[in-house]
Parts: sequence; C-alpha cells; structure tokens
Amino acid sequence: PALHRQRHQFVIDFVSRNKPRKVVDLGCSECSLLSKLRFRREIELLVGVDINGAKVKKHMHRLAPISTEYLQPSFDQLHIELYQGSVTQKDTRLRGFDLVTSIELIEHLTLADVECFSEVVFGYMTPVAAIVSTPNSEFNPLFPGLASGFRHRDHKFEWTRAEFRSWALKVCLKFGYEVEFSGVGEAPSGQQEQVGFCSQIGVFHRLGGRDGFSMLLDEDSEDVFSYTLLHSI
Ligand code: SAM
Repeated sequence: PALHRQRHQFVIDFVSRNKPRKVVDLGCSECSLLSKLRFRREIELLVGVDINGAKVKKHMHRLAPISTEYLQPSFDQLHIELYQGSVTQKDTRLRGFDLVTSIELIEHLTLADVECFSEVVFGYMTPVAAIVSTPNSEFNPLFPGLASGFRHRDHKFEWTRAEFRSWALKVCLKFGYEVEFSGVGEAPSGQQEQVGFCSQIGVFHRLGGRDGFSMLLDEDSEDVFSYTLLHSI
C-alpha cells in the first residue's frame, strides 16, 4: 500500500490497541486521517488543526455524517472540531488529550519552530501519548533522482535516524515522556538495517501514563484561544 496509507494504518492500529477517547491530529491537511479515525468507536472527541484553513475547509465534507450514522445512536458520541491554527502556538482547547498525532508535519517547520512545537505539544498540551512521523533522510538514496535535496520543496529539513532520536530524547528528558522508535515503508531486502524505514515514527508516552504528572494544573492557568474554529460536527 501507498506510504501515506501505511502511516495512517500505523495510527489506526495504535488507536485499536490503546483506545484513546480524545484525539487531535496536527497538520490534518485534507482531513484524510480524520476521515478514517471517525469510524473508531472508542473516540469521543476528534480534533483537526492545520495552519491552512482553506485546505481544511475544502476537504472537511469528508467528515460530514453519512445518512446511516443518523440511525445509529452510538455515533452520537462522536464530536469533531476543526481549527485553523499553528502548532507553534498554544490553545487551551487542545490540552488534556489522550493522543496527539503529527504525521509528516515537523519537517515543514523551521528548526526554531520545531522547538515551539515541542513546547506546545509536550510542555503545554501534555497528551498521554503522541505519534510523530517525519521522513528518514537515510532512506533518500533509494529514491531515484533524489541524489540531493528533499522529498518535497516545502520541507525545511529531513532528519537521519540519529537526528530524530536526538530531538525525541531531548523532548522526553525535558517534558517527562518516554519514546519508542518505529517506522513504515521498508527498504528492499538486505538494506533495512542500513537505511531504516522510509518514514520514521516516534511513539511517545507520558511518564506515569494517564495519571502521570501533568503541568495542566500548576502553570499556564490563563486560558489562551489562538486557534479559529472552522467547523464543529
Ligand atoms: N498529516 C497529513 C497526512 O497524514 O495526510 C499530511 C501533512 S502535510 C504533508 C503538512 C501539513 O502541515 C500541511 O497541510 C500544512 O498546511 C501543515 N502545516 C505546516 N505548518 C504548520 C503549522 N505551523 N501549524 C499547523 N499546520 C501546519
């Protein structure tokens, strides 16, 4: 299957195992992952955020209830909210989630903004778990015609496994998380060890889990509303 499908399937498998009730997808783009997650009955609140509000609006019809859902009372449980906003800015409405997903988003940020992203996600939103995916630059030599440069012209960087690991471990130390490294998109046989996965993925868990220490109560008690609500379903 296509790589973007594999990334989304990775998230769906995680949701099946961990049963988060409140999930937010950062950089939700064309609402593609959200349109799959809405069928997971364990989810009660599903939120999408993207800096490109026009793109979200253009595709959010994918999340409109389908007629049979009106007949199935169990779907009454699901609430969907879509916001225009930047992951470099805090918004009180995104605190206290069970799962934050950030699929192929961070490489679109400058390194200074990645620092803000880390603060916002792990220091302010403090989700129970977070899934962060980004290209693995060590895989790039396997793409024909990509001898130098990035996979997409809007990418500000592409990290090796060591670079991703170093960012992730710093985040863990600073904000009280642990991380497991994984990925999707395997290299041809024999080369997997050497180049790693096409997309590298970090799965973060807050230390202490659901009841773990969270900065929710102590600091930042002022409410901040920096995102614009585009739609609520
Ligand atoms: N997550 C999507 C998926 O799995 O289908 C793909 C993400 S796309 C490659 C990157 C997205 O990040 C774009 O929709 C872009 O508008 C968004 N983006 C870039 N900078 C952002 C920021 N600072 N805050 C929120 N979204 C941002």
